[in-house]
Amino acid sequence: MGDENIRPVISVVCPCYNEEDVINIFLREITKVLGEIGETYELVFINDGSRDNTLGALVSAKQTFQNMRIINLSRNFGKEAALTAGLDQAKGDVIIPIDVDLQDPPEMIKEFMLHWRNGSDVVLARRIDRSSDSFAKRVSARLFYKFNNKISKVAIPENVGDYRLMTRKVLDALQQLPESERFMKGLFAWVGFKATVVDYKRDERKAGKTSFNGWKLWNFALEGITSFSTFPLKVWLYLGLIISLLAFFYGTVIILQTIILGVDMPGYASTMTTILFLGGIQLIGIGVLGEYIGRIYMESKRRPTYIIEDEY
Ligand code: UDP
Ligand code: MG
Repeated sequence: MGDENIRPVISVVCPCYNEEDVINIFLREITKVLGEIGETYELVFINDGSRDNTLGALVSAKQTFQNMRIINLSRNFGKEAALTAGLDQAKGDVIIPIDVDLQDPPEMIKEFMLHWRNGSDVVLARRIDRSSDSFAKRVSARLFYKFNNKISKVAIPENVGDYRLMTRKVLDALQQLPESERFMKGLFAWVGFKATVVDYKRDERKAGKTSFNGWKLWNFALEGITSFSTFPLKVWLYLGLIISLLAFFYGTVIILQTIILGVDMPGYASTMTTILFLGGIQLIGIGVLGEYIGRIYMESKRRPTYIIEDEY
């Protein structure tokens, strides 16, 4: 057990941030399922700078559960980075990212494996029932997918999270993408490969609480959109053209009015409206530019996605 050089068939990759309460329940469930499947496996845990005793819980669990590897990041890098760290470490023929809070039912791995044996390179778990998510989260998720899939060339499958199975071939492709800000759902979709979809009902968290609030989700959505589409940049060209055209006609009308009817002074309302409207439009345009330039700036630094402090 635990021989560093033997490649397991299955790598399960679990990013953990403040999850001390669920680690043991998760381990019991996942090892039960993996035991029933009967293939060799490894469990790759990434401690993403947890502020509670997640690391301690993982390290002491390792005495009971073999085949565990613990990657301890030097601080909290966020779920996308933590997942990337885990994927980079995984040695298996098939790789399965999963949340430790048991919102992704481990039982499904059996079905994943069946599809894999039948030749699938990617098996996606799709949530058919999101009643465990808040109303606001469901609505905003809907809007995100709708908008994103309209403007991006690569559609991100709706209601599909990171829970999935991928073969080594797919992981190799994923690792060819060099960006350091990694919007995983988008990257998964970008590499392609034929996917089989398996439906499931998303459970409630078993313990602990979600670390994604409204602001974090908004930024996550911005990351997703700006990583995969330049539409928000291009739209200003057309908006600008339309507004200039309207302004041109309006200008002509004013000039003709002055010539035919003579000079008159009123017009405070129309002047103010135009100035304020254009000012607003320009600020939005600059804001969008800022979002992209900020990201170009971050990418151009070529910093690593995460830093490993130590491994257990
Ligand atoms: N997570 C992480 N780093 C973070 C935030 C979350 O590794 O900065 C992990 C977390 O421990 C969990 C998974 O990502 O295993 C999903 O997080 P969460 O359950 O909070 O998100 P939700 O299910 O509410 O979308
Ligand atoms: Mg969760």
